[in-house]
Amino acid sequence: MSSSTIYHIDVNSAFLSWQSCYDISIDANAVDLRTIPAAIGGSQEMRHGIVLAKSTSAKAYGIQTGEPLVNAYRKCPSLVVKQPDFSVYVEYSNRFIKLLHEHTPIVEQYSIDEAYCDMTGMELLHGNPVQYANRLRKEIKSHLGFTVNIGVSSNKLLAKMASDFTKPDKVHTLFPSEIEEKLWPLPVESLFYVGKSTAAKLKSLGIKTIGALAHSDYNVIKKTFKKHGEVIWNYANGIAPDTLSDMPAPNKGYGNSLTIHFDVTDADTAKKFLLSLCETVGERIRLDGVYISVVSVTIVDSEFGHRSKQTTLDSTTNVTELIYQTACHLFDAAWNKKPIRQLGVSTSHASEQKYEQYNLFDMDKYEKLSKLNNAIDNIHTKYGKDSIIRACFLDNNMSGKTSLSVEKQRKKIKKQ
Ligand SMILES: [Mg+2]
Repeated sequence: MSSSTIYHIDVNSAFLSWQSCYDISIDANAVDLRTIPAAIGGSQEMRHGIVLAKSTSAKAYGIQTGEPLVNAYRKCPSLVVKQPDFSVYVEYSNRFIKLLHEHTPIVEQYSIDEAYCDMTGMELLHGNPVQYANRLRKEIKSHLGFTVNIGVSSNKLLAKMASDFTKPDKVHTLFPSEIEEKLWPLPVESLFYVGKSTAAKLKSLGIKTIGALAHSDYNVIKKTFKKHGEVIWNYANGIAPDTLSDMPAPNKGYGNSLTIHFDVTDADTAKKFLLSLCETVGERIRLDGVYISVVSVTIVDSEFGHRSKQTTLDSTTNVTELIYQTACHLFDAAWNKKPIRQLGVSTSHASEQKYEQYNLFDMDKYEKLSKLNNAIDNIHTKYGKDSIIRACFLDNNMSGKTSLSVEKQRKKIKKQ
């Protein structure tokens, strides 16, 4: 039987690492956030903000991703906190994916800071896949300035589980022959797709480790957890289908999704993530010169329940703002208030034909927005993603307006 070779590559503390890389790129004397107790977090009001990413030394203080900043400050009063700058992260994410494409034609972006590479059959070209993973890890570090973990295995699930072993800057393998030694001793909640309440229920059945789940009675698990039970029992045994997620693959059609490493429990934060997704989707639509007429939003909650909604627009569009507004309406209709772990926006029915059913006022408005979007794309292409960013990414005000602020103005605002 021919065997596949899959890498799962995961950026270590992505938002914090990327923020450090960016800060150092604009000021060589900037403090490297990775070397001090630091976190990325905050929202409209700092006191309501949560930790989105943290440095290793912040972790040593017991600070956890997803916890309120107030708690984090209590644990470490000298904690340096920076507000997230999603436009910077999207730019670094693009560089990361681009570099992976230089190593294999088959790259599947899973979230802003994670991707799978299919390295099957590359041994003749690259040699031993584990040694090559180490080369790739070092190349990312030296060329892009941040570290990654790489999991190597024969399927996506095992590769993903492997990349989650000790961090940072490591390559781990989890081949089927290593499941017993490396996977089974782990607590059951560390298995992909096992959320908090599932873990609690499993524990009440006496199943504490992945190994115990693997050896449990399949029929009992299936009866207790239904379809989800089948999936996790198979996962515990290292058996996984080709696709890990029901989310539409980001590069097929025009869509993007984002796995969030903490529970999002408020609509404001979720909509900020939606905007960053709509930005990248809109830009790709305009780059290809097409217009879309169907928008859909997918929400995956912390128990891996999926909800999605889609709608057909009255007109075709390539305007980020319209895609975003639609995505927000769909989100409001779909969200059942359960903590969110993954969000996706996808668009379809792309065509090169533009048709509109706007009233005169809207037509004028969207025509202007369309021109503005194109102008911004041109500036991004010419001067980089940082040259113009959205006002809401600057001051966390969800206005959805595009700010024509330039770099200088942005720095000024950041210093305030
Ligand atoms: Mg990561």
